[in-house]
Amino acid sequence: MGDGPVDPRRRVPRTDTLLADPVLAAAAVTLGREQVKAIVSHAQGRARRGELNPDEVRDAAVAALPAPGPRVVLNATGVVLHTNLGRAPLSSAAVAAVVAAAGHTDVELDLATGRRARRGRGALDALAAAVPDAGAVHVVNNGAAALVLAATALAAGREIVVSRGELVEIGDGFRLPDLLESTGARLREVGTTNRTTLADYAAALGPQTGFVLKVHPSNFRVTGFTSAVGVRQLATLGVPVVADIGSGLLGADPLLPDEPDAASTLRAGAALVTASGDKLLGGPQAGLLLGDVEVIERLRRHPLARALRVDKLTLAALAATVHQPDTPTRAALHTDPGALRERVERLRDRLGADGRKAEVVPAVAVVGGGGAPGVELDSWALSLPERYAVPLRTGDPPVLGRVVRGRLLLDLRCVPADADEAVREAVLRVPGED
Ligand SMILES: *Cc1c(COP(=O)(O)O)cnc(C)c1O
Repeated sequence: MGDGPVDPRRRVPRTDTLLADPVLAAAAVTLGREQVKAIVSHAQGRARRGELNPDEVRDAAVAALPAPGPRVVLNATGVVLHTNLGRAPLSSAAVAAVVAAAGHTDVELDLATGRRARRGRGALDALAAAVPDAGAVHVVNNGAAALVLAATALAAGREIVVSRGELVEIGDGFRLPDLLESTGARLREVGTTNRTTLADYAAALGPQTGFVLKVHPSNFRVTGFTSAVGVRQLATLGVPVVADIGSGLLGADPLLPDEPDAASTLRAGAALVTASGDKLLGGPQAGLLLGDVEVIERLRRHPLARALRVDKLTLAALAATVHQPDTPTRAALHTDPGALRERVERLRDRLGADGRKAEVVPAVAVVGGGGAPGVELDSWALSLPERYAVPLRTGDPPVLGRVVRGRLLLDLRCVPADADEAVREAVLRVPGED
C-alpha cells in the first residue's frame, strides 16, 4: 500500500470489536453468539467486497438482526400445552387464516349489504355450529377475561357462590378469587377444601346471589375423602350456574374422560360456560363464552366487553381452529407411542452414524397448561448427556428438553414429525466430545 490511502478493507472493524458493541452483545445473549457472529461476518464480507463503507459495518449488522419478539422453539419437553412456550401451537389452517387476516378484512362488515356487521361472526358462527347446545356465543381476550366479564356483568355488587375447593390459582401468582373480587363482586365461599355439598350451596343462596360458579380444577387434583357438586345438581338450585371448564374442549374427548366439555356442561344445565381457546381446543389465546341467549347478550352489551375485545387475527385463527379441529395439540395428545418410538430410534441411529451416542428411553408426557392434571401419556425420548441442555436451548432454533437425573430427554411427542431433522442438526451443532 506504500504511502497511498489505506486499503478500506483493512479498516473493516474486527469481529471482537463488533461483538463488544452493546446492541450486538445483547443480541448475542438472546440469539446465541454463533448466530450474531454469522451476521457480523456477513456484514464484514460486504465491506471487504466494497459493498459497504467500513464505518457502516456495525449498523448493517444491527439492521440484519432478526426482529425482536418471540422466537420459534422446538418443544421436546413432553409438555403438550406449555404455558411458557405459548400453549397451543396453531394448526396450519389457523396460521394461513392469520396471514390472510393480517390485511384488510370484513371482520366487522357485511359485504352483501355494505353495512356494519357483528364483529368476528365467522368465528362466532363456527363456535355456535360446533356447540349447538349453546344459545349464543361470545369471545374475549382469554379465559380470565371471560370470567371477569361474567362476574362484572352478572354479579358486580352481588355475590358469587363458590366452593372453597375451587378457589384456585391459575398460575404466575394469579388467583381466581382475587380476579373475581376485582370486579366488585363478593365471593360467598361454601363448603371446605375437600368436601362441598348441594346443601352448602343452597344455604348460601339469597337475594344477593348473582350466580353459582363451578370451577374445574384443571391444574391439580384432590383425592381421598372428597365430594363436589356437579353442574347438573347445581342447576336445580334455581339460580344461574356459570361453569369455568378451563380447557376449552367443545365436545367430550375419550382420551380425557375427566375433562369437562362445553356441550355436556350446557346440557347439564349451566347458563354460561367459560373456557380458554389455547388449551385443549388447540387454538389462539381467547376466552370462549357459550350459554343462554339472554346471558350472552348481557355480556356482549356490557361496556367492559369493548375492553376485552379480541383482535381480528385471533378471530381468524379461532374460526379456522373450530372449523377444522385437527390441531397440533390434538395430534400431540393422540400420537401413537409406537410411532414415536420409531422416530426416536431413527434419530438415535442417524446421530450414531455421526458419532453421537444417544439412547432411546420411555418417557411420560403430560397435558400441562392447566389441563388434565392426572393424565400421563406414554411417550419416548432421546436421552443425551446433560451438557447438551444449555447449547440446545440457546441454539438456533432453540430445542427445549427436560433434564432428568443427569440426562437431557428430548421427548418427540410435541415435535412435529417434519422437525426431527432440525433436532438432529441442532444436536450435531453442539460441539461433540462423547
Ligand atoms: C386456564 C384456566 C383459566 C385461565 O384461562 P386463561 O385463558 O389462561 O386466562 C381459568 N380457569 C380455569 C379453570 C383454567 O383452567
